[in-house]
Amino acid sequence: MSGDTLEAQPAPLSEAVTFARFSAANAAAIHLLDNIRSELSPSSLKRHGNTIGYQLSIPLLPRNHDSKDVWRIGAGPSTAIVERKLDHLKPDILLCPPDGSLSATLARQFIKDLHATIHFHAKSGVLMLKTTSSRPVTYERGDMDHTDLELALRRIPSCVMRRSQNFIRFGDYRFVLEFIAQDQVEDRIKTHTSSYRGLYPSPAFNPAPMTHPKTSWNVWLHNKIPNTSIISGVNIYTGEPVAVKQLQRKTALLPYTSSRLQFARQYDEKRDRGVLGIIDVWCEHNISPPCFSNRLEKVNDDSFERIFYSTPLAKNNFRDMSWVNIEFEKRLALFYQTLLGLAELHQKNITHGDILPESLLIFTEHESTTKAQFPPWRAVISLNMRKRKEKPDPSVCVAPEVWSSRSEQNGDLDEAKLDIWALAASWLFAFTVPPKNMKIRKQSYGGLKMTLDTQSQKGLIKEPLVKLLRQMLAWEPRDRPSAADALADEVWDSIRDKLQEDEDSRKRKRLDMMKSVDGGDKRVRILSPDPDDD
Ligand SMILES: [Zn+2]
Repeated sequence: MSGDTLEAQPAPLSEAVTFARFSAANAAAIHLLDNIRSELSPSSLKRHGNTIGYQLSIPLLPRNHDSKDVWRIGAGPSTAIVERKLDHLKPDILLCPPDGSLSATLARQFIKDLHATIHFHAKSGVLMLKTTSSRPVTYERGDMDHTDLELALRRIPSCVMRRSQNFIRFGDYRFVLEFIAQDQVEDRIKTHTSSYRGLYPSPAFNPAPMTHPKTSWNVWLHNKIPNTSIISGVNIYTGEPVAVKQLQRKTALLPYTSSRLQFARQYDEKRDRGVLGIIDVWCEHNISPPCFSNRLEKVNDDSFERIFYSTPLAKNNFRDMSWVNIEFEKRLALFYQTLLGLAELHQKNITHGDILPESLLIFTEHESTTKAQFPPWRAVISLNMRKRKEKPDPSVCVAPEVWSSRSEQNGDLDEAKLDIWALAASWLFAFTVPPKNMKIRKQSYGGLKMTLDTQSQKGLIKEPLVKLLRQMLAWEPRDRPSAADALADEVWDSIRDKLQEDEDSRKRKRLDMMKSVDGGDKRVRILSPDPDDD
């Protein structure tokens, strides 16, 4: 709710839908809210059954992209603040009666003027609780292994409310946030979510399956992504969408796999290098790093013990992206980022072995952070944790020498050049739908070249990209450029310039922001009026 709705004017029924209730959950809390009702009678505070609580509604039609759904929770401004007419500090969910009463004074020891907020996560659509105070708020059974989670500023400031009933404690005062979405409003509420595969609609709005929300390590698991073994979910602290993948312990301990797991770990912080980073690695016992990773005992082949790892969850990949609406220049920028990723891998002597359009992931950056950036998407390569199959599934992304070489020579193939072919073939999915299950041999290679010719004649694939594609898809591996050479190609010049421009503009903005923070110093102090709130 933006500033203009802070007066708690209820939206007409036709324009808003109540999706949750924030109610008192013990005698102390009932006492507080009952006092507020008799003294101020806010319209969204209603008695229901044996308790009393605030109804939370969302507008039926999103007003605009900037309209946030944020509810502020707190004890309300002290008399001193009210006298200074700083009414905008009034919370939407007021928990304390006005100053003066003994019960208000007592409650204010635990509940700050503005203590926390409830909001929808911009990407995952889950409902978040976020503290704005250093005094603790407890989300019961909200941490890993369903233990209580204590939120406090500068420690863990936020969490996802993942149950149909979410119990929250401020000192002795216990409240419950309960989802009350009914069937008839579910369709409406779904528009608050977006379209990460396997993640939506957010189960938060469907109370029935929420009695035992399943977590693994710090991830609230949602759904299995169709046709994969990947499970989508959200980080229980940040609400960020994540993908959870699993490996058997014996696979994870192979040098090939463990070196790649370690390698990808570094890229969680380096998001602009074109490589998909790993956020966490843990075992079935919820121990990270996995409990067996330091053990010297012999690996038991019969063990079905698994490890899990999480990565950011991409909204799209090169196969399912709807390319039609994306300008050529923007496609080029996405290609460039994946080539950057491949060059990074090859430079560290890591080959991919199985690049497919599905391994090239596209992230949509949050709008506010990317206003100046070009494009609002970011593409990365997702690493393959298993060795390349000697007999892979037929695909245009498999270089022709894999089929023509005898099995005993297959091990001697130039792995880097296989990657180059596979990357270029995966880019083709941005222009055309190559035939399924096709092995590229002499004859089908002619067809592939013809596709390139037609696409280029139609002006769909433009020079100098056509030239680079022909080189990367050369029949002979030795005629294909290395990733570093392909990266130096003139086709990327305009993108490099554009990225440089954006980088410069970001630097300028950072400088401007630092200046304005200096100037806004006084305002910041007024917003934090309580001296003991460090
Ligand atoms: Zn373990």
